[in-house]
Amino acid sequence: MNEYDSALIAGLLEGAGLRISKNIEEADFLFYNTCSVREKAEETAIAKISQSRPLKQKNKKLKVIVLGCMAKNKGEQLFEKLPFIDHVIGTDHYRQIPEIVLGAKANERVFTDFDEKENYDGTYAQIQNPFSTSITIQRGCNKRCSYCIVPYVRGNEKNKDPLDILAEVQMSVEKGISEITLLGQTVNAYKKDGETFASLLEKISEINGVKRIRFVSPHPRHYDDELISVLQSNSKICHHVHLPLQSGSDTILKKMRRQYTAEHFLSLIEALRSKDPFYAVTTDIISGFVGETDSDFEKTLEVVKQAQFDNAFMFIYSPRIGTESYLEKEILSQEQKLLRHQQLVEIQNQITSNRSQNMLGRVEEILVERPSSKDPREWMGKTDNFKKVIFKPTSTVSPGDYLTCKINEIRGWTLRGEVLS
Ligand code: SAH
Ligand code: SF4
Repeated sequence: MNEYDSALIAGLLEGAGLRISKNIEEADFLFYNTCSVREKAEETAIAKISQSRPLKQKNKKLKVIVLGCMAKNKGEQLFEKLPFIDHVIGTDHYRQIPEIVLGAKANERVFTDFDEKENYDGTYAQIQNPFSTSITIQRGCNKRCSYCIVPYVRGNEKNKDPLDILAEVQMSVEKGISEITLLGQTVNAYKKDGETFASLLEKISEINGVKRIRFVSPHPRHYDDELISVLQSNSKICHHVHLPLQSGSDTILKKMRRQYTAEHFLSLIEALRSKDPFYAVTTDIISGFVGETDSDFEKTLEVVKQAQFDNAFMFIYSPRIGTESYLEKEILSQEQKLLRHQQLVEIQNQITSNRSQNMLGRVEEILVERPSSKDPREWMGKTDNFKKVIFKPTSTVSPGDYLTCKINEIRGWTLRGEVLS
């Protein structure tokens, strides 16, 4: 989502006459788009922003601008912590950036808070690469998961006008894009002007030039029969879902205010894989949530084994000021949390490897992305179910091409393929 926002801001700035500088030493403006979801993300952002201090000493005209979730979360405190910062602009004021940085009051410090009405209708992000782009269809979040800072830094849910979304898809395919990824914090809860998420998916799939549709992140609570049937029947919607589990214990899920049970979660995976056992499911899991007992954690491990995720982002619980669970006293030490995390990673890594092994011998359509970083004679592309495949091209290839490959080797988690056509 931040990458999309950065591309949106880049477009707005280019429209105002600015250009991306190739060399940080020559830049007149440095924009830092930040994340707050875990404390580590904010620490990383602060460390990076701090690196601009010597640049500012060399170039007195240089302006440093902090954007994104940390801009809202830390607000004007950032001016105290890092006094060389010029502006702090939260997620609802990107349209105003050219005016803030170039306008008559450019030398006055600006901090911007929420604007509940801003939905970025009529603005379009720059294309992020020549064959694939993301489109934010929903900003903010109406859930209040007890550990999560997102609603406090991005505000309530705002769904983008469906006509605007379809226009952005149309503009993208006219520039050669064939893969569209729809973004939202609970993307499948999308509803606007009579359009549901399922009907929006169908309309996007009818646009000529769209070959692959992806979306992230759906919420387990917001699947209905209509959506499941569209996901299974529409051939342009990829067979991969990133479906965050968070915990396998119903007690913890309740404390997290996630609004589903482990059983419901597993039933969704079963429904998706009922017609295609290779349907890829990836997830997010938090270990060491406040109040998580040994037996709660065992339940998470059990669900992980049953779910057979293709991959997972696994996080150690990070208490965030302002959230409900921050108020509860933690009992687990950092070492205990880390130990659980490591146990989970070990089990999931084995499952990830098995899921990759299962792909051996299959014939897959690959969307070509780029030359491999290890060996430029080899290229990397992705299957419909989001697996990376390394292959040696038999003739000239370009990013955005579709090739048919036979998966003939698995090294670790990496699939290797032979080009058939
Ligand atoms: N909207 C998505 C999640 C967005 S945040 C959803 O509801 O599934 C991305 C991931 O960060 C979450 O899925 C969660 O696993 C992790 N996360 C969020 N807050 C966290 C916290 N306080 N500590 C650790 N991980 C957290
Ligand atoms: Fe955070 Fe929950 Fe909203 Fe996801 S659904 S962004 S985890 S509050």
